[in-house]
Amino acid sequence: MADTTTSELGRIGLKRPDLFREQCYIDGKWMGEPKHPVRNPATAGLLGHIPNLGKAETERAVAAAEAALPKWRSASARTRADILRKWNDLMLKHQEDLARLMTAEQGKPLAESRGEIAYAGSFFEWFGEEAKRVYGDTIPGPASDRRIIVLKQPVGVVGAITPWNFPAAMITRKIGPGIAAGCTVVLKPSELTPYSALAIALLGEEAGLPPGVFNIVTGDAEPIGRVLTEDPRIRKFTFTGSTPVGKKLAAQCAGTVKRVSLELGGNAPFLVFDDADVDAAVAGAIISKFRNTGQTCVCANRFFVQDGVYDTFAKALAENASALVVGDGLAGLTQQGPLINDKAMRKVQAHVADALGHGAKVLTGAKPDSQGGTFYQPTVLRDVAPDALLCREETFGPVAGLVRFKTEEDAIRLANDSRAGLAAYAYTRDLARSWRVSEGLEYGMVGMNTGLISTEVSPFGGVKESGIGREGSKYGIEEYLNIKAVFVQL
Ligand code: ADP
Repeated sequence: MADTTTSELGRIGLKRPDLFREQCYIDGKWMGEPKHPVRNPATAGLLGHIPNLGKAETERAVAAAEAALPKWRSASARTRADILRKWNDLMLKHQEDLARLMTAEQGKPLAESRGEIAYAGSFFEWFGEEAKRVYGDTIPGPASDRRIIVLKQPVGVVGAITPWNFPAAMITRKIGPGIAAGCTVVLKPSELTPYSALAIALLGEEAGLPPGVFNIVTGDAEPIGRVLTEDPRIRKFTFTGSTPVGKKLAAQCAGTVKRVSLELGGNAPFLVFDDADVDAAVAGAIISKFRNTGQTCVCANRFFVQDGVYDTFAKALAENASALVVGDGLAGLTQQGPLINDKAMRKVQAHVADALGHGAKVLTGAKPDSQGGTFYQPTVLRDVAPDALLCREETFGPVAGLVRFKTEEDAIRLANDSRAGLAAYAYTRDLARSWRVSEGLEYGMVGMNTGLISTEVSPFGGVKESGIGREGSKYGIEEYLNIKAVFVQL
């Protein structure tokens, strides 16, 4: 093991220190030399290292996944479900350790990390159950002596690449349905948050997952990504991350015509109508905007508020935002952690400067926090121009920019004026309006009078440039199943 800073690790205080792994997991073996440093975004302290694997090791992982496939896909659904249930149980048993590890590498407050571990585990439980319900169809034949049967079969070996903002849930949301369906997986987690992934792999091993069913490689994204997108042995590629990288990887998949699922960036509108319960709207806005320091793809990014409640909503949102406790996520009271890195900090600062340059006014925040590093104050700006950067691009930070609107038609037009289409939110107490708005928004998910839309039981995914496919719910497993039609001549 390389020179891990014991002080950073000691601060995490794991009850089971072996959950901290600095090696990759291929074919049921821990391998690779820890070389690449991983830091805690709250302190910039060194947490440890991870291997810098490349093309050859990724191909080895693909070979292991391919070798494990025949046995795994022919195991009964109950066998797969039993292992997935145990995996969820182990996630919950070690929830505190996993949460502390996550906060240390990602920065989010401990309460959010605990919630994410439970959420992450729920995909194992849910899809283990769904594995038992992979029903086919029988179709009335086109002639009296013909029958047609539809079978659903696992796609095969899956390549997966995941981001840093949800270091556990973005993984289980892919490998849960994949493994439940009978696929085997090679995963590259984000190099910024690899330890959650590696701990999950260890618990999978303990749950009884056979070698080769789930493999993790860490290292340089480009060569690993090439194998996962271009190797013909991989039949499905699934990605969560930024839109530009997703487009590039989807293009790389074209050469081998892989099935592709993409969960890319959003630019979520948050609509508040005059007839809204303003207190509920403020509470929803705080959850949707400031969760994970604004670093989720479903975070509200553009606030459109109707004339009649604009001032009240703006004042209350600013009051609530300024009361959020900023700090190291491992500290008990923290409600908002640091941004993930300097690049994220620069983007937030550029968006705020641009909004102010376009005439926006500061209600609270709008500057780095006095704690230094990548801590940024929860920010609310009013009178933001709809063409400011803040509205055109996903900020991925704790900045709420408010735009005023007059009519429902204006609100829907402004909300849909984006190439992204992941999540949208609206607050109104008018039943008919709630239907019109839900149906009019060009988004994959709508939070109507709620700022929280993530649960394993509901389909998560976007339209337009926010992606392809759905994760979670009964639809999520379909992404890992091929349809085969069997024609029978009697
Ligand atoms: P973010 O801006 O959220 O970090 P990215 O799209 O850059 O989003 O990263 C999401 C995931 O994609 C990470 O695991 C990252 O390592 C990976 N990634 C980034 N660039 C590439 C690439 N060229 N090829 C393969 N994977 C990549």
